[in-house]
Amino acid sequence: MKIRNHRLIRDDGSALAYLASPHAGRSISPRFLVLHYTAGSSAGGTVAWFCSPASRVSAHLVIARDGSVTQLVPFNREAWHAGQSRWGSLSGLNHHSIGIELDNAGCLIRSGGKWVSPLSRRSYPESEVTVACHRNDPPGTPPCGWHAYTPEQIEATLECGMALVDQYGLADVLGHDDIAPGRKRDPGPDFPLESVRARLLGRRDDHPERYRTTARLYVRSGPGPECAALPGTPLPPATVVEVLAKRGLWWEVDVVGEVNGVMDLVGWCHSKYLEAIGG
Ligand SMILES: [Zn+2]
Repeated sequence: MKIRNHRLIRDDGSALAYLASPHAGRSISPRFLVLHYTAGSSAGGTVAWFCSPASRVSAHLVIARDGSVTQLVPFNREAWHAGQSRWGSLSGLNHHSIGIELDNAGCLIRSGGKWVSPLSRRSYPESEVTVACHRNDPPGTPPCGWHAYTPEQIEATLECGMALVDQYGLADVLGHDDIAPGRKRDPGPDFPLESVRARLLGRRDDHPERYRTTARLYVRSGPGPECAALPGTPLPPATVVEVLAKRGLWWEVDVVGEVNGVMDLVGWCHSKYLEAIGG
């Protein structure tokens, strides 16, 4: 995925679902990504609510359980997802962040031998429930149930997050429970916030990440298949490269050593054909 005119588009340039929410505020220069659960029972219901004049709430993106993404507010405008919130010296995080809502029922209670949403009264099977304490709970608080996120949602969050971090140079990835800890518990213990944060921000390490090609691979003049292949490519399988930058699934690489008679080849390739070396 990539971003054009503050809207998310697919790598092939086609548009994702976009429904304009009336709840969009001032211009912003986002610095953070804030993750939420909807505590609702369908992505369609959440999108409809965010577009309803009565709701007074919105988010930039809603990610359904099948991983499909709907955008409601351009990334350079405030969406109304954070409410009263604080991070470091900043307050009112709507003005500093991009908000992603994941369709998830949130905290579930035990009722009649089932896990039930206290809001919708809908029940969820054991296979979709994680029993855990929240990290903000005081010691001794009993665990409760949390509706599990789907792998498709986590993957979509990573894909959108990569495009957003690259486009806006975001400084951190936060939960609503980080910026409004007394008031909010989302995205909650089932969301792998630490690993998502590491995946999205980890590339800023001082040591370049080294990868090995898994197939014959063209290195191109820019991040996309329409860009010209560079002389000396395709690289043979098992060529070692260092990753300089990432733009969605297209990564800028520095080829280590001489390949096909060309030294220090630098260009862009599709990350699908790269595997990490070592840990
Ligand atoms: Zn929230």
